Amino acid sequence: MRHLLLVILLVPVLARADDLAARAKKLHAEAIVVDTHLDAPDQLAGKWADVSTRGATDHFDIPRAREGGLTAPFFSIYVAASYADHGAARRALELIDLTHRVVDGHPKDLVLAGSHADIRAAKRAGKLAILMGIEGGHAIEDSLGVLREMYRAGVRYMTLTHTNTNHWADSSGPFYEPDFDPKKSAVHDGLTAFGKDVVKEMNRLGMIVDISHVSDATIRDVLAVSRAPVMASHSSCRAISNMPRNLTDDQLKQIAGKGGVVMINFGSGFLDQKVYDQFVATLAKVKPEYLRLKATYAKDPARLRTEMLGLYKKLGGAGGARAAWTKVVDHIEHVIAVAGEDAVGIGADFDGIEDPPTGLDDVSFLPRISEELLRRGHSEAQVKKVLGENFLAFFARVETARDRLASEPPFTTEYTGK
Ligand SMILES: [Zn+2]
Repeated sequence: MRHLLLVILLVPVLARADDLAARAKKLHAEAIVVDTHLDAPDQLAGKWADVSTRGATDHFDIPRAREGGLTAPFFSIYVAASYADHGAARRALELIDLTHRVVDGHPKDLVLAGSHADIRAAKRAGKLAILMGIEGGHAIEDSLGVLREMYRAGVRYMTLTHTNTNHWADSSGPFYEPDFDPKKSAVHDGLTAFGKDVVKEMNRLGMIVDISHVSDATIRDVLAVSRAPVMASHSSCRAISNMPRNLTDDQLKQIAGKGGVVMINFGSGFLDQKVYDQFVATLAKVKPEYLRLKATYAKDPARLRTEMLGLYKKLGGAGGARAAWTKVVDHIEHVIAVAGEDAVGIGADFDGIEDPPTGLDDVSFLPRISEELLRRGHSEAQVKKVLGENFLAFFARVETARDRLASEPPFTTEYTGK
C-alpha cells in the first residue's frame, strides 16, 4: 500500500521532470545559444587536439557543443599577465591564428563569425559560429593601430584588463594570490586619458568593450565615456557571492541602463559564497609558503604558478568544494530582478575555470539551464533571451553605435604614459 502510494505520488512529478527535460532539449535545438567566454585556444596552444574529437579540451569539442545546443562560443584570445611588455601582441596573434586554423580545419562544422547577423546565418546553416574576444588590454601594446589590426583579424571584443593593471586601465587584481591586495592594482584610479581613447576607438570600430576583470573605478570610467553599450563577458553577481570579480547591483543596473549585458560566469567561487569563503581560507593557510616560493621564483612566474598549483593540490584543491549547478540560475534570476530580463546571458568561462558547478561539467550540459529556468516558471521566450537573444540584440546595438560613428576619423592618439 505504501509503495502504491509512493508510485501515485511520484508519477506526476517524474512525468513533469521528463516533460521539462524534453521541452528544454527542443528549445535548445531551436534557440541561438551564445557563450561569450571559452578558453579553448589557450588549452589548445598548450596541447593541440582535433576539436572534432571528444575530450579535445577540458570542457569543449564539437560533439559536446552539439549535444549542448551551443551556437556561438567566443574563443578567448587570453594573453596572460606574464606577456605584458613581453610579446603580448605576438601571443594574441598566435592565438588568433590558432583559432583561424581550428575553424579552417572543420569547414562543415565551424564558421568564423564577426557580427550578430553572422551568428544567425551560422545557425541557419547548422554550424557553430566561432567568434573571438581578446582577454587583457595589454595585448594591444598601447597602440591603437594594433587595436585596429586585431579588429581586422576578426576580434570582436576586448576585456580591458586581465588580473594585471596595464598602462592605461586598472584591474580588479589577482584575487587568487594569497597576498592579494586590491590597492596594489589601483594605479590610475580607473582609466587614463589614453585608456578613454581606447574605449572610444573600440566604439568606433564596433569592438565590444568588456568590463570583466577591471576594477570598480575602471567600470565607472568606462560607463562614463563609452559611446556604445558595454558587456561583462564572464562575471556574476556580488550580492550572491561577494568577490572582486563579480558585479554590484548598482553596476548591474548601470550596465543594463546603457543597453549592456552581463554574462554569468560558471566558476564555483563566482557562484557560491561558501565556496569563495573556503577558497579565501585556503589562501590564508598557504600564504607563508607562498611568500617563500615567491621569493625563490621571483624571476620565473611560470614556475611559481606550477609550484602554487602543486601546493593547492596537496591541500585538497584551491577551495575544493563546488557549487550546485542551479546556482547559475540564481545569478541569472538576480540580474533579471535587478537589471531587467534583457540584460543577462551566459559567459561560462569553460576551459578557463577548474571548478565548474556539479552537474554543469562542460558545454554538453547547457540545456540544464533552460530546464531549470522553465521549472522556475520562465517562459520559452524568456529562456531564449537568456540563451542568446539578449546578446544578439546587444551586439546589434554595438553595431548601430559603430554605424552612427562611421564618419568619425580613426583616433591617432599616441601612448605617452598618461
Ligand atoms: Zn577571465
